[in-house]
Amino acid sequence: MLIPTENGYLIGGLPASALAEEFGAPLYVYDAAKIESQYNRLKGAFKDVKLKINYACKALNNINILRYLHSLGSGLDTVSIQEVEVGLKAGFDPANIIFTPNGVSLEEIKQAVKYGVKVNIDNLSQLEQFGALYGDSYPVCIRINPHIMAGGHAKISVGHIDSKFGISIHQGRHLERIVKSLNIRVEGVHMHTGSDILDVDTFLKGAELLFDAAHAFPDLKYLDFGSGFKVPYKEGDNATNVEELGEKMTAMFKEFCANYGRDLEIEFEPGKFLVSESGTFIARVNALKQTTATVFAQMDSGMNHLIRPMFYDAYHHIENLSNPNGKTRVYSVVGYICETDTFALDRQISEISEGDYLAFRNAGAYCFTMANNYNSRLKPAEVLVLNGEAHLIRKAETLADILANQVELKELR
Ligand SMILES: *Cc1c(COP(=O)(O)O)cnc(C)c1O
Repeated sequence: MLIPTENGYLIGGLPASALAEEFGAPLYVYDAAKIESQYNRLKGAFKDVKLKINYACKALNNINILRYLHSLGSGLDTVSIQEVEVGLKAGFDPANIIFTPNGVSLEEIKQAVKYGVKVNIDNLSQLEQFGALYGDSYPVCIRINPHIMAGGHAKISVGHIDSKFGISIHQGRHLERIVKSLNIRVEGVHMHTGSDILDVDTFLKGAELLFDAAHAFPDLKYLDFGSGFKVPYKEGDNATNVEELGEKMTAMFKEFCANYGRDLEIEFEPGKFLVSESGTFIARVNALKQTTATVFAQMDSGMNHLIRPMFYDAYHHIENLSNPNGKTRVYSVVGYICETDTFALDRQISEISEGDYLAFRNAGAYCFTMANNYNSRLKPAEVLVLNGEAHLIRKAETLADILANQVELKELR
């Protein structure tokens, strides 16, 4: 996490601009201590129930981050067979990996069964095929769509009526028929309504529906409430009150378990909550450009490295590492890609000179993992700060990486 001090910004106790000098910008830096404190905060909020946290690794998938979360006791939430494979490589026990795909082939689900990971199915057609193949020999989790609108952002809310995710709560009869007919062993029920839960009560409404649905399945081991924990991206942002959620959900869950007749486990699968604030993206200003409309700060980066502002209109707070205590001025911060890749419009930032390092906050989740090679640009390096020491955990790409899988034909005429 990027911390302002009198002598400039620190990440995990180390000067941020020195890290950029040492490893070269553009650069992603992650602060392990912040990941640990977020993990412990969530655990603490649910200390009175059996809790399992499965880190949703699509947020940030460097194998060292996975290994770090493993060392904290986390399980893993995966959405592709490749994420499962990286998780196994990172040392997770298959029993601590849950595979929650959407729209994948039955072949991929069969592969997950071969690996022995927990399988979460979100489609009745596939559940039927799964049941026909495995009957009660391999347990499943069922992803329910409770149709709760999370936060009101259509692109990141996945629980609404038009969403492609989950089995509708209104298809309960059909679901039960398939489960009974094929003797399917349902060990978990799951919901994940999206990445933007603004208030605890909306979340609890969804939870209530999942409790209702759960009573249909007598062999449950866990109820998985997905994620949707919101962290602040800018001052005044609404963040999920995890402690309040923990308190209210613990009471509801205990009541559910009493009615159900057995103590089950609560599972969550946060991505953003665990890693967003740990990450900082640092890039240099190539040039300032005064136009009739604004002053552009043109970065040595773009939507190829950090696409959330362009893709989701996401706000990432920007600090000038090279002039931490200057007077603020108004800038439009843009990338070098031949698209309109605007990081920030009309943003007040401490006065910028060409060559300055700017830092983007909340760059831990869905930032590096969405990076790409558009315009034949190279992906940047990643650094993990651990116990006051900076470690390179991914080298910056070189041109060889761009060309690696291209097959050059000998003759083109
Ligand atoms: C992406 C995803 C998550 C993580 O969401 P965050 O908002 O990053 O916490 C959890 N569960 C599933 C199934 C997901 O697809």
